[in-house]
Amino acid sequence: MLSVVAPTADALELTAEERAYVRTLPPVTMCVDSDWRPYEWVDERGIHRGIAADLLRLVARRVGIALELVRTADWEESLAASKVGRCKILSFLNQTEKRDVWLNFTAPVLSDPNVFVTRQDHPLIADPAALRGETIVFPAGTAMEEMIRRDYPNLRVVVVESEEEALAWVDDRRADMTMRSRIVAAYVIRGEGLFNLKIAGQLPDYVNRLRIGVAKSETVLREVLDQGVASLSRADLDDAINNYVTITVQEEGLDYGLALRLFGMVAALVAVGGVYHVRLQRLNRELVRLSRTDALTGLSNRAHVDAELARELDRARRYGHACAIVMFDVDDFKAINDCQGHAEGDRVLCAIASVIAETVRASDLVGRWGGEEFLVLCPETSADDARALAERVRLAVRGLGFGDGRIHTISAGVAEISGDGGADDLLRRADAALYDAKRAGRDRVCVAATG
Ligand code: GH3
Ligand code: MG
Ligand code: MG
Repeated sequence: MLSVVAPTADALELTAEERAYVRTLPPVTMCVDSDWRPYEWVDERGIHRGIAADLLRLVARRVGIALELVRTADWEESLAASKVGRCKILSFLNQTEKRDVWLNFTAPVLSDPNVFVTRQDHPLIADPAALRGETIVFPAGTAMEEMIRRDYPNLRVVVVESEEEALAWVDDRRADMTMRSRIVAAYVIRGEGLFNLKIAGQLPDYVNRLRIGVAKSETVLREVLDQGVASLSRADLDDAINNYVTITVQEEGLDYGLALRLFGMVAALVAVGGVYHVRLQRLNRELVRLSRTDALTGLSNRAHVDAELARELDRARRYGHACAIVMFDVDDFKAINDCQGHAEGDRVLCAIASVIAETVRASDLVGRWGGEEFLVLCPETSADDARALAERVRLAVRGLGFGDGRIHTISAGVAEISGDGGADDLLRRADAALYDAKRAGRDRVCVAATG
């Protein structure tokens, strides 16, 4: 089964030769890892999903090529398929000596450190070379397995079929540890409630630098893809990550898991001492923070705002309080990217994020809702007061000078809770009000009708 992503015309600045090449290029066959959440997987309808899928689609669209997914049973079959030319690219993988034999690589699409995952009762791992008689389990065919075999022959390596199986082996004591990228570890430990497991260490040199692997014969394709990869901004990456590492922060679940992990950390700290363990503690706190924060703007991410919104609506309903939200969207933002470049687009987003954060009250929560959309949650606030707040933000953004005296504007949609409509209803009405503001000419605030 094939899934084709259609190319669009907005190609980057390719050379004439590259452009001619892209124009006549049939869809580029691609093999992927069908089981590597949240990086990538293939869903039940045969569609490539995940952080890698989104980033590759973005790259492909920017350089104007179409991708065609070649289905395989697992990652090992994908590697084998790429060796014999069944696919021209492998979506998202580390460069290794073995793979250099038949692949060229683009620059990294994404970098993410690997961490050791152990049970709670395992001591922290400061130096893996000092471990004796311990077993480390890997899913088949990973680059980390190659590296651990090379660097730490003292560890007994076991290979199993899937990531879940590797975690299960650690969980039920058949193995002492496994390794995971930090993003994947955050996703599975938190997402699947595996609070029996913890992050026990990190090796500075074990960073996943995930690239697109391109068949050696396809030299122009590699160059073209590299340009697409170079066009990825910090915000593109953060968006892709935030879309999937949506570890909804449920107070009980999180605090319980975190408390357990921190308890483990503190116990180890007392027992062993040393700076390294403080670093690990920081790493685990960092994971919690990462799971809530949008890395470009430093605001709350969508998952966190979503969770807080649900909680606030509950509270408002229980106590009969008012509650309003404001949805902001930057006007004509696409033109900023197109004329000033993505980096400037990112700077504008950060500046606007700061203005919003500085203008709202301490009790309001500001988050990045999507690309150039922000959501402010205003507890105990009527639609009128929220409109006044939105108006203050609108004027403050207008008052910001950019570069050569350019100004940028934003539009806002305000909605207040009404009846027993839930978060979806509130968001839908704020969105409709925002749409009204856009239609009426932008740079204005509209308030949703109640009900
Ligand atoms: P409108 O006034 O109707 O909102 O027009 P617009 O151009 O802002 O609307 P549109 O939604 O078409 O464009 C939003 C653009 O924002 C498209 C997308 O490429 C860009 N974008 C989204 N996230 C980011 C980001 O994090 N950084 C940068 N630089 N651009 C982003
Ligand atoms: Mg928008
Ligand atoms: Mg916009």
